[in-house]
Amino acid sequence: MTTPPRPVSPIELTGTDTYLADQHRDIDDDTLRDLAAICEVATDTATTAEASRDWWPIALHWALAGRVPARAHAVVVPTTTEQVAAVMAVCSTNSIPVTAAGGRSGVCGGSVPLHGGVLLDLSRLRGVVHVDEVSGIVEVLSGTFGPELEDELGSRHGLSVRHLPQSFDLATVGGWVACRGAGQYSTRYGKVEDMVLGLEVVLADGSIVCIGPEPAAATGPDLKHLFIGSEGTLGVITRVWLRAHRLAAAEQRRAWWFDSFDDGVEACRQILQHGATPAVLRLYDPIETQRSHGGDGTRCALLVLDEGHHELLAATMSVVAEVCDEFGDAAPADLVDHWYEHRNNTAALQELTRRGYVVDTMEIAAGWSQLAAIRTAVTESVTAIDAVRNISCHLSHSYPDGACLYFSFAAAPAPDDLEACYREIWDTAQRAALDAGANLSHHHGVGLNRARFMAEALGPAHAVLAMIKQQLDPSGIMNPGKLGLADRFGTEAW
Ligand SMILES: Cc1cc2nc3c(=O)[nH]c(=O)nc-3n(C[C@H](O)[C@H](O)[C@H](O)COP(=O)(O)OP(=O)(O)OC[C@H]3O[C@@H](n4cnc5c(N)ncnc54)[C@H](O)[C@@H]3O)c2cc1C
Repeated sequence: MTTPPRPVSPIELTGTDTYLADQHRDIDDDTLRDLAAICEVATDTATTAEASRDWWPIALHWALAGRVPARAHAVVVPTTTEQVAAVMAVCSTNSIPVTAAGGRSGVCGGSVPLHGGVLLDLSRLRGVVHVDEVSGIVEVLSGTFGPELEDELGSRHGLSVRHLPQSFDLATVGGWVACRGAGQYSTRYGKVEDMVLGLEVVLADGSIVCIGPEPAAATGPDLKHLFIGSEGTLGVITRVWLRAHRLAAAEQRRAWWFDSFDDGVEACRQILQHGATPAVLRLYDPIETQRSHGGDGTRCALLVLDEGHHELLAATMSVVAEVCDEFGDAAPADLVDHWYEHRNNTAALQELTRRGYVVDTMEIAAGWSQLAAIRTAVTESVTAIDAVRNISCHLSHSYPDGACLYFSFAAAPAPDDLEACYREIWDTAQRAALDAGANLSHHHGVGLNRARFMAEALGPAHAVLAMIKQQLDPSGIMNPGKLGLADRFGTEAW
C-alpha cells in the first residue's frame, strides 16, 4: 500500500512558539469531542505547529528561530465532503475560525490559521473520482496532489490537465483553484480558472453547493468564479471538474538570444498577437540568463516549448521562429532541456534563507504597453533599498493583451532587521508596480502578505467582495485576516 501524499515542510521547524498571533481562539472540550466524532482531530503541539505554516518566505526565518506564524488549536482531517460539511456546521454554531489548507505550498501565508481555531487539512480528501474520456473531463477531490492526478490520468486514460506549476509536487487541486494558480504551460492551456468546468463547495454554515460541470453557460453570472481565487474566505472547495487534454503527440523545444529584455518582450507580444500560443514562453533578463541559462550578463534568453498535433505544432513554431529571428538570434535548444530538468528545484530558497538572506518573488500582470515602465519602476525602487543585493525579472506567462512579470529579490539585512527589511521591499515593490499600472498578483494570490494592499488594488470593488463575504460567511469564520477583509477575531496582524 502506498503512503498517501502529505504536505511537504518548507524548512525545518526548530520550535513551536507563535510569532504573529495574540488573539488565539481556543476550542472547548465539548466542541472538540463533536469534531472528533466526525473525523480525525489532532491537538498536540507538534502537529498543530507544523500544520500552521506554509512556504511564506519570511516565515522560513521564523521556523529556523523556533516559531510559527500562528498555531491552530486543532488540526481536523476530513476524508469526505459530508465530513467537511459537518465540521463547518459545528464551527459555524460555535464561532470557531476555520482555515482550509491543501499542500500548504502557498507563498503568502494564506493557510496560516491566524486566530487559532481549526486548521482544516484537506490533503486526505483525495483521489480521482471519475474520468469522462469522451468529453475530456476529470472529476477530482480537492486534496489531490498534482502527481496523483496526472499519474492516473496519463497512465489509465491517456489524458492530462496540463496545469504544471513549479509547485506541482507540493500543491493540491483545491489550492490551485483557491489561489487562481498558473502552470508553466499556461500560455497554451491557460491559468487554472480557464480549466475549471465545475466545483463542489461547502459553505460556512455547512451547506453543500455544486456549480456545473459544463463547457459553457449563460445561466446568469458564472458562480464558480466567486470561489476560484477566494483563498478559503468564502467556502471550502471539496471537488473540482477540470478540462483534460489528450496527451500530446509531438513536442518541440527552441531558444533565442535577445540583446535586450525589451526586444524579447516585443517578440513575445508579436507571437501571441499573431495567434500562436506555445505552451512555454519564458524570457529572462540578463541577470537570470547569466545565473541559470548560459548568458554572458548582457543578453536575454527566451525559452520556447510547444506540444500537440504535429501540424499545429509546426505552424506555431514557424510563427515563433519568424518573429524571434527578426528580433534575436537562435540559441542552443538544450537551454530548454536544462530548464526543464531543473525547473522545480527549490534548494536555493532554503539555502539562502539559512544564510540569513531575505528572499522572495513578486509576480504581477499588466498590458504589453505597460510592462517596460513597470519593470523599470520596480527594479529601480527596490535597488535603492540599502540591504538589497539583487533584483531580477523574467516574463513567465503571456496573453494576447499582456503578460506576467515575475521579480525575484534577495537582501542581506542585519539579523534584527529581517521583518522590517522584508516589509520595506514589499511595500516598495508592490507600490511601484501598482503605480505603474500592474495588478496586485498574477498567480501567487494575496494571503496574509498582500492583504494590506487589497483595498487599494481593487478600489471600490473591494467593497463588493466584502458584501459577498458578509452574505456567505456572516459570522466571519472562514480564513479570517486574509484578502484584506474585515476580521472579527482581531486587528491587522502583518
Ligand atoms: C516552490 C514553489 C513554487 C511555486 N510555483 C507556483 C507556480 O508555478 N504557480 C502557481 O500558481 N503557484 C506556485 N506556487 C504557490 C503555491 O504552490 C500555489 O499557490 C498553490 O496553488 C497552493 O496550493 P496548496 O494546495 O499548497 O494550497 P495551500 O497553500 O494549502 O493554501 C493556499 C490558500 O488556498 C486556500 N485553500 C487551499 N485549499 C483549499 C480548498 N480546498 N478550499 C478552499 N480554500 C483552500 C487556503 O486557505 C489558502 O488561503 C509555488 C509555491 C512554491 C513553494
